[in-house]
Amino acid sequence: DERRILQFQITLYGDDERLLMARDITRLHRLEQMRRDFVANVSHELRTPLTVLSGYLETYRDFLEQSGEERLTSRFARGLAQMQEQTTRMQNLVNDLLLLSRLEIDQRGEDTSPVAVDQLLETVRRDAESLSSGQQKFAVELDSSQRLLGSEQELRSAVSNLVFNAVRYAGEECHITLRWRPWGKGACLEVEDDGEGIDPVHIPRLTERFYRVDKGRSAATGGTGLGLAIVKHVLLRHDAHLEIDSRPGEGALFRCIFPAARLAAANDDHNEAQR
Ligand code: ADP
Repeated sequence: DERRILQFQITLYGDDERLLMARDITRLHRLEQMRRDFVANVSHELRTPLTVLSGYLETYRDFLEQSGEERLTSRFARGLAQMQEQTTRMQNLVNDLLLLSRLEIDQRGEDTSPVAVDQLLETVRRDAESLSSGQQKFAVELDSSQRLLGSEQELRSAVSNLVFNAVRYAGEECHITLRWRPWGKGACLEVEDDGEGIDPVHIPRLTERFYRVDKGRSAATGGTGLGLAIVKHVLLRHDAHLEIDSRPGEGALFRCIFPAARLAAANDDHNEAQR
């Protein structure tokens, strides 16, 4: 097709001089689209073989357990457990890649049903608690029960990523707080921990795909390296953005800022009807 995509940049020099630059980014745009489609297709194609693998691994494990042959069991059980662990890792990665490419392909979210913030935070807290070692303490703070216009599934996946990160990286005995509060004319959803924190030099790059502060450690925690990239894209689709504030040893604060247009009061007639 003949449509071209141009990028304009205006630079101001002093009071009365302007420099206007136009760049034809059609080719770049097409390449980027091809990359997204490719990742989405590969991820999709990998799902079926991984499901088959994981199914057979499960069957073999049951078979080993029932065989009762000690020698056989000890020899293979460890190998099987590792294969299962790595298969699950690949499945998580493929699912995250697929989710991320879907979010990227369609940058505007279509789904705008009212999502009850209190329920959202409570659900994520419960999920995170079951994942935590038991030493970490969770709290939900919100003074008014508002509704957020968006996709429940996407918002849940974004908040879960932030809270699961706190569970994984903040440390054994930290406190994790999920908070909803007014922010200017809009509101913000915060996930805060008092754990190990992050060196500020890493902060600008945290939402890049596969960017990790400590590669070895992140792989061991079971993360896919795509968590914060997913958060960023979910927020973009909700006209929101992410701010990260952290210092080593002083915990981390992830703040999702939503504009007023995305809020609906809990007692709106329209929203009541959806209950
Ligand atoms: P993953 O967790 O899979 O590595 P993410 O994109 O979710 O990928 O996170 C990127 C990196 O940010 C993590 O590897 C970790 O180093 C750092 N990080 C995220 N959340 C926290 C946190 N609450 N405390 C300390 N470090 C964090």
